[in-house]
Amino acid sequence: MPKALPEVIVIGAGLGGLSAAIHLRLAGHPVRIFEANGSAGGRANLLMLEGLPFDTGPTLLNYPWIFRDLFHAAGERLRDFVELRRVEPTLTFYWPDGWRLRLSAQRELLAAELASLEPSAGRSLDRFLADAGAKFRLAFEKLIPRDEPSPLRYFAALKLREWLTAALWRSMYAELARFFRSRYVLEALGSYAMYLGGSPFRLPGIFTLLPYGELAHGLWYPRGGVYALIAAIETLARGLGIEIHYGQKVSRILARNGRVHAVELADGTRVPAPIAVCNMDLPEAFPRLLGEPPPRSAMSPAVLTFYWVVRRLPEQLGHHTIFLPEHYRRAFWELLYGRGIPSQLAFYVSAPDRQEPRPTATTCARLFVLIPLPTLSSLGPVNWPETIARLRLHVLERLAAAGSSFRESEILAEQVWTPADWSRRFCLHDGSAFGAAHTLLQVGPFRSPNFSRRHRGLYFVGASTIPGTGLPMVVLSGRLVAQRVSAHVR
Ligand SMILES: Cc1cc2nc3c(=O)[nH]c(=O)nc-3n(C[C@H](O)[C@H](O)[C@H](O)COP(=O)(O)OP(=O)(O)OC[C@H]3O[C@@H](n4cnc5c(N)ncnc54)[C@H](O)[C@@H]3O)c2cc1C
Repeated sequence: MPKALPEVIVIGAGLGGLSAAIHLRLAGHPVRIFEANGSAGGRANLLMLEGLPFDTGPTLLNYPWIFRDLFHAAGERLRDFVELRRVEPTLTFYWPDGWRLRLSAQRELLAAELASLEPSAGRSLDRFLADAGAKFRLAFEKLIPRDEPSPLRYFAALKLREWLTAALWRSMYAELARFFRSRYVLEALGSYAMYLGGSPFRLPGIFTLLPYGELAHGLWYPRGGVYALIAAIETLARGLGIEIHYGQKVSRILARNGRVHAVELADGTRVPAPIAVCNMDLPEAFPRLLGEPPPRSAMSPAVLTFYWVVRRLPEQLGHHTIFLPEHYRRAFWELLYGRGIPSQLAFYVSAPDRQEPRPTATTCARLFVLIPLPTLSSLGPVNWPETIARLRLHVLERLAAAGSSFRESEILAEQVWTPADWSRRFCLHDGSAFGAAHTLLQVGPFRSPNFSRRHRGLYFVGASTIPGTGLPMVVLSGRLVAQRVSAHVR
């Protein structure tokens, strides 16, 4: 008879935790998840305001095949659970001087739009897509799916040609500047660095794969919102026999003689755990659950989010819109190295009712505004009521500058989550919204590994470990950690 596999306790039902649980269950382990909050999804959660559902965090969905693969691994089809639709145009950018750029995953439309800002950009586009496409394939074939903590072995797998393709020695912005000249094109494509909570001046050149991924493979929207995808994945997990216990905060991971043996819940209950997979933000888990210093990690920025029920959608807004500031480089500097609220602010607005008008949309609609801010330690003391009023006004002024007649009085209801709220709700280290940053020294084998070197049986999953942040990446993180557990258990 085959040996029964040990039970796995997963701490947190974020998307990373759910993915790890599903892969471990499929490998044959009994799996229980303990989640501090009352619902699954972590940062990708659901907020009800005036009876309308808002996605709390992620709204931009890339790489749909990663989600399909998750269902496929369990012998199911994603489309039987939730429908993914393409978003077109993908993203629209506005600048304070009135310029606008609308991106599309349809090459002809994109080329024409780029050419309106830079006459030769249509031609440069093909060269860019070929180059960034090679980076994308390299990343997805050889870098992202690899769990190899030895830098020597990790990089030895690359051929010289692949090293050149990766362009690790150049910044993402410098890499884009090899193809485009227009400030507007460079700034728009560079701002995809924010998907990783990073700066195009700081991320290595290989990350031009981010705009490529969207321009070549599209941007997607689950019918019913991102939470419909999370709910589908939770249903998948339950269907496999995974137990999920909500409102059960883990307060300690207990280890003895270099081995993890139990987790302790906030009410003092001890749950035996021969294997524990921790989905709590990794740098926070070390001090809070293990009483150990966290690994030194540069963190991605924090965010302030507005959830607005509005009388009508501002005219200029598509489904996804980014407003860039006048001084782009300074904005990234202030965000990552400055102190206090930046003077130059970029922000993102999602208007999901553009994609999927609701019956109520005739009387009201939903707007989600995300403003990246420095992490809590860099923000210092903030007068939040005054700052929130200032940030709201800033958003309204930029909408007006883009030609909208939308007024503050058309906001019918509002909820605001500050960086401290985000941190408190999901235990995010220093209020960082996206987890550990993706600088050269925090990617691949240099990122915090998905296992504990000190306590056997303890593993990590999610945005601050490998491969990185974002919904598709944390799904892959779940697969990688399950593979590592299987390799250890065998
Ligand atoms: C505002 C915002 C916008 C974003 N936009 C996008 C986007 O458009 N597209 C995209 O792909 N990504 C986006 N991201 C990033 C994406 O949300 C994250 O990378 C991803 O959701 C992280 O998943 P995770 O499983 O690592 O962690 P989390 O989602 O943080 O899940 C961790 C879970 O662990 C639980 N937990 C923590 N401590 C304990 C404990 N002690 N006991 C029990 N449970 C515990 C938490 O409650 C939480 O449910 C965004 C993030 C934010 C904050």
